[in-house]
Amino acid sequence: MKLLVTGGAGFIGSNFIQYMLREHNDVDIINIDRLTYAGNLENLSTVEKNDRYRLIKTDINDRVALEPIFSEGIDIVVNFAAESHVDRSILDPDVFVRSNILGTQTILELAKKYNVQKFVQVSTDEVYGTLGESGLFVEDSPLAPNSPYSASKAGADLLVRAYHETFGMPINITRCSNNYGPFQFPEKLIPLMIQNALQDKNLPVYGDGLNIRDWLYVEDHCSAIDLVIRQGRNGDIYNIGGNNERTNIQVVRTILQELNKPETLIEFVQDRLGHDRRYAIDASKIRKELGWNPKYDYESGIRETIRWYLNNREWMKRVHSGAYQQYYSKNYAGA
Ligand code: NAD
Repeated sequence: MKLLVTGGAGFIGSNFIQYMLREHNDVDIINIDRLTYAGNLENLSTVEKNDRYRLIKTDINDRVALEPIFSEGIDIVVNFAAESHVDRSILDPDVFVRSNILGTQTILELAKKYNVQKFVQVSTDEVYGTLGESGLFVEDSPLAPNSPYSASKAGADLLVRAYHETFGMPINITRCSNNYGPFQFPEKLIPLMIQNALQDKNLPVYGDGLNIRDWLYVEDHCSAIDLVIRQGRNGDIYNIGGNNERTNIQVVRTILQELNKPETLIEFVQDRLGHDRRYAIDASKIRKELGWNPKYDYESGIRETIRWYLNNREWMKRVHSGAYQQYYSKNYAGA
């Protein structure tokens, strides 16, 4: 099976590529990544010499560069490539529209032209907007995105859906809750807090810290996408989540406890604009229909994750200093 993975140098994409090459001998992967600030090839150093893996540095909007890749024959597209940070989308929405919506449409068009067997769009629970104190997002909950990030992801989902309805393209859309685990860019809650705590810096927590997210260990997200690729019913959407609702302040306190740091490091800061209060996923469809079962419970997953960042401080330092961005020119010279 020849997989075209976009955005594979990012947090989830790099975990996914490692997972697929480890779990399956019949999978070849081409990774298309523009290597934005969030793309880190160090995340893929364990697979870069694997014969079944190839990196092509390009933008998913670059149809001319992508055409020869599609014409080689691609079985499945898994589209992770996106601008993914809500705070950045508030400061500069343009690039979110370009990468997340227009980029998705560009590769949809190529997938249609070259008759790929399936297009899997990796989406997010944030497209559903926010919940009150009770209730869960189900696959047919209305789309009500509140940030430019989630609006751009919802726009992409609708295009994917339209290519299925109009052109009969075989597709699936997955909508997962917040991921945590190794290789996450330290602008996101968990690695940011770990990094600051290790340096005895303040831990900035938005508003009252009571916003709720539903956390899933990244490898469990990867195993769910793997199932959807192989068994997902054509045209269907699958919610993915682990029933691990935690307030942001709970997450931060766990990190401080694990690192033996005082709670006085917590600093409540002005809330994010349009900050969604609560996300919670009903993942019973993928559990029942595809037999998906997450392996990690939150308490052990979060501890394992904290240990990973502790054991990989050099990785963190290179991300922080910007040195990770030289990896491509050093290791892919002449590529
Ligand atoms: P990330 O920001 O860590 O990685 C994104 C990757 O996409 C980077 O390698 C970047 O270089 C690449 N990229 C960005 N724009 C590109 C473009 N125009 N062309 C080619 N490559 C481009 O993101 P992530 O956290 O790994 O998320 C991956 C996907 O999963 C995203 O689509 C996101 O919406 C979705 N998602 C993320 C979460 C989460 O908790 N992180 C949860 C659910 C869904």
